[in-house]
Order: sequence, then structure tokens, then C-alpha cells
Amino acid sequence: MKCEVVRSRGGYAIVCGGRRQKQPACYRDGRPASVQCDFIVSRRTAGVATNVPVTCDRWCCTDTSCSVHVGPNRDYCRAHYDQSEKTAATSSPSGSAA
Ligand SMILES: [Zn+2]
Ligand SMILES: [Zn+2]
Repeated sequence: MKCEVVRSRGGYAIVCGGRRQKQPACYRDGRPASVQCDFIVSRRTAGVATNVPVTCDRWCCTDTSCSVHVGPNRDYCRAHYDQSEKTAATSSPSGSAA
């Protein structure tokens, strides 16, 4: 097995094996992840409004208890899916009813 020393932030890491690209792991169960959460957490960066939404980008495996497919090319991590559902449920039309 071939090993090489890779300089990283704050030190060195020894990488062994042929594959340099590390397979991302699911945030929940550590299985090989293949989708990233597309939940938009912010449209601002350091106080500057941008047109580029900042997404959660959490890696999830395709297990339905870890990620939820919400549309074409859109997946939410379970936590954000639950959150978005709750938000949708609690958001009442701002208005006169009381
Ligand atoms: Zn998972
Ligand atoms: Zn997320």
C-alpha cells in the first residue's frame, strides 16, 4: 500500500491507499454518502447579501431516515426536512384572524 504525507491545515496527514478522494460519510450513520443537503441556511455571508444561497451541504446517504428527496436534484438532510416541515406547519398567514 502506498502512503503519502499530505500537508493539511495545522499539521500533516498520512494518506494510504490509491484513492485520494475521500468518500464522504453520512452525518447520521457514517455510511457512504451520495447526496448533500440542499436546505438553504442563509443567503448572506458575513453581513453581505449575495445571490448565492448558502446551503447546509451536509452529506447524507440515501436511506430515507437520513435524507429526504424533495425534488429534482434537491435533497434535505433529515434534520432540515423535519425543520422545514415544522416551519411550514407553524407559519400562519400573517393577518387579522384572532
Ligand atoms: Zn445515513
Ligand atoms: Zn441540512
